[in-house]
Amino acid sequence: MSEHRIRTLDVHVLNIPAKAVHSHGSGDVSGINVALLELTTDTGLTGWGEASPWPVFTGTVEGAAAALHSHFAPIILGSDPVQIEPLMHRAETTLVGHPEAKAALECALLDLTGQITGLAIAELVGGISRTEMPLSFSVANPDFDADLDDIAQLWSDGVRLFKLKTGFNKHSFDLMRLEKLRNLFGDDIGLRIDYNQGLPAHDAIRQIRDLESFRPDFVEQPVKRHERAALAAITQAVDVPIMADESVFGPVDALEGVGLKLANIFSLKTMKSGGIRRCLEVAAIARAAGIGVYGGCMFETSIAHAAGAHLMAALPELRLGCEFYMSTFYASVDIAETPFPVSNGKVHLPKGAGLGITPDRQALVHHRTGHLQASENT
Ligand SMILES: [Mg+2]
Repeated sequence: MSEHRIRTLDVHVLNIPAKAVHSHGSGDVSGINVALLELTTDTGLTGWGEASPWPVFTGTVEGAAAALHSHFAPIILGSDPVQIEPLMHRAETTLVGHPEAKAALECALLDLTGQITGLAIAELVGGISRTEMPLSFSVANPDFDADLDDIAQLWSDGVRLFKLKTGFNKHSFDLMRLEKLRNLFGDDIGLRIDYNQGLPAHDAIRQIRDLESFRPDFVEQPVKRHERAALAAITQAVDVPIMADESVFGPVDALEGVGLKLANIFSLKTMKSGGIRRCLEVAAIARAAGIGVYGGCMFETSIAHAAGAHLMAALPELRLGCEFYMSTFYASVDIAETPFPVSNGKVHLPKGAGLGITPDRQALVHHRTGHLQASENT
């Protein structure tokens, strides 16, 4: 037991406008809506976590805020923050689903534990295998000319991995964009494709075969999350590696996915699995089955990006890079006190004990649309 006890819980609901609308096979997104969790201890420490839901994918910010305030506050107020697994087990057995709220809770507990022990979160969950990771930017602007300008700028910044969001327009539009990017940048560009469930299962194999000549690194989640038999059939039928995103959330899905031969790669997201340590469990199942892993993200601020960076840093193998571009290249503002570190096409592990990223109070208040509070005595 440590000498620290959690005294207060604050949930800050934020809306941060984006620089541009991003279109996906599952809809358009024009901003970042998150619930930030702030925990303080009776010893004066502050820990941060983030829930970043996407209604068509994981859940809602309202649901995440209520989960944290109404259901998790009674579990953690008065508790010792270093008892992470017992506390998370109670959260998981108290409330079904809500993986984003669980990710926020675990992150804030890990942030406090890191500050108590003087260790980075990546060290708390296994150790630092790397301090920088290749960044992948998602090309999702319905105006492709605007995207080409962005890509040129990012290319000069050192970004070499680009993921095209496909399936929201015609198949011919997707083929045109792939051909253009492959011709412009040759073999130096790493092209990835993400349908966000946008392909009809009955015609998915033929459409994916059309893309293979542009040599994408992988094709992500072509069909709906529940069309698992179709996803497995696609994975067996095509040569390009298939990645499961919406179809694999946590360790239970991963285990089932191995049995079904669902995909060649799993996308890891703390918001899907309910935290960093459950993501590492997904990664362990993937490793045992010869399945690759990738660092994905939702529409997140730099708080959740930092959690993802600690996860990526702790993975023994990472060949496909990671996202975490939102706070630098998509949001109109990075709400962190010190910006989330991205440079030369790389995401860098934030420095310092715990999470290593703290929100700027002024930015937090400016973008706040809701605030819930609980303390040990209320
Ligand atoms: Mg995806």
